[in-house]
Amino acid sequence: MHEMSLCEGILQILESESARQNFTKVTKVALEIGPLSGVEVDALKFSFDVVMKGSLAEDSELIIIDMPATAWCMQCAETVTIKQRYDDCPVCGSAQIQVTAGEELSIKELEVD
Ligand SMILES: [Zn+2]
Repeated sequence: MHEMSLCEGILQILESESARQNFTKVTKVALEIGPLSGVEVDALKFSFDVVMKGSLAEDSELIIIDMPATAWCMQCAETVTIKQRYDDCPVCGSAQIQVTAGEELSIKELEVD
């Protein structure tokens, strides 16, 4: 599962941050996830609990922050909101749009002890 390795990557970040910032326990992790990141939130939540078990982030709360996906439409000459990568422009129906945001997967905030 793709989400499992994502969580392992998150744990690595938490561990290196704990060494750098001198904390021993993570109580809350807030992740920003764009709809184009390819992440399944349910699978991510499940993997998070599995991967964090026995680590410094065991029993921490996972907060998902949904980020909007946007694209630049050449026809409209405007930024539009899309739902999926290969969507047409929701305003004019043009396929000539370029994704500008929505692929994020990043740690927004940590709460630590
Ligand atoms: Zn358009």
